[in-house]
Amino acid sequence: MSRFWSPIVQTLTPYVPGEQPQMQRLVKLNTNESPYGPSPKALAAISSQNNEDLRLYPDPEGAALKKAIANLHGLNSNQVFLGNGSDEVLAHVFAGLLKQNKPVHFPDITYSFYPVYCKLFGIDYQTVALGPDFEIDLTNYKTPNGGIIFPNPNAPTGRSIARAEIEKLLARNLDSVLVIDEAYVDYGTESCIPLLQGASCPENLLVVHTLSKSRALAGLRVGFAVGHPTLIEGLERIKNSFNSYPLGRLAQAGAIAAIEDQAHLEATSAKVIQTREKLVSQLSTLGFETLPSTANFIFTRHPKHAGAKLYQALRDCGIIVRHFKSPRIEEFLRITIGTDEQSAELVSALQEILS
Ligand SMILES: *Cc1c(COP(=O)(O)O)cnc(C)c1O
Repeated sequence: MSRFWSPIVQTLTPYVPGEQPQMQRLVKLNTNESPYGPSPKALAAISSQNNEDLRLYPDPEGAALKKAIANLHGLNSNQVFLGNGSDEVLAHVFAGLLKQNKPVHFPDITYSFYPVYCKLFGIDYQTVALGPDFEIDLTNYKTPNGGIIFPNPNAPTGRSIARAEIEKLLARNLDSVLVIDEAYVDYGTESCIPLLQGASCPENLLVVHTLSKSRALAGLRVGFAVGHPTLIEGLERIKNSFNSYPLGRLAQAGAIAAIEDQAHLEATSAKVIQTREKLVSQLSTLGFETLPSTANFIFTRHPKHAGAKLYQALRDCGIIVRHFKSPRIEEFLRITIGTDEQSAELVSALQEILS
């Protein structure tokens, strides 16, 4: 506390990211990073930019990266917005599109950064309860709102909804922006990006992606949003009133190569999905109940063992997972899918703990 803080600083409850422990030999399954490295082509592209040109500012527009993203997704470059990680993209989305006269709606159990942004930007919000099986029930999103945002698949539950369901919501929610945060879309969820292609692109749908998860570049900090050019223009106005150069030269070069290496993405995502399915069945043998996941993490609980205790017991074995002390989900563990070896270590540690 300092008397020099501006009044708003005292009111904030900042987001607490998953721990990045410095200990060696840890099985780190707590922040949904990829267990596999990024595309070797991305690493080579970053190295190739590691030279004297770093004295120069990067392209403020990130035009080449926008083009690569547009090409991959069948869009135009003016439908792409770039940010220093999708958290920054989301910040601009809240400030630029979701701060309206009516409250923004999002699930009561979801990415905990959303309410943090609302506080920061003075945005009124209303949470909508997940259904009995922790699913997002879009029939509960019927009242007037200043915008709707949710991740698909949802975090930390891992549950996803079909694109057709989202289209139905879009058809009746015409007066505010619908934001789909597709941070984990590459592990088996239908993307909403095809809805944005061509002349029928809705004016009020925005899809947010990150290179931090399936493209294994959390350390590079690149995210993007795609949508109608007028939404993108609004976001650009915010960005250019805040930081005109959010993406450095290395980040732009690495991101382009990563986006173009679809084969690497598909191969590594397929491995994660395979490890996930095996882990879910092994956990079920141990008595765990796991929500159906289309993400690179699972949300699981044991009817006879408290979540907080399991979290601590795993930690004592050098395995870090995520536990949330929040209503309805405190019996759950959110476990990032690692390599098969990490998965095996997790399963044998749990066998030990439960016996
Ligand atoms: C990880 C995550 C993000 C943010 O990722 P960045 O690293 O900032 O790109 C956004 N939304 C959800 C739901 C996430 O889990």
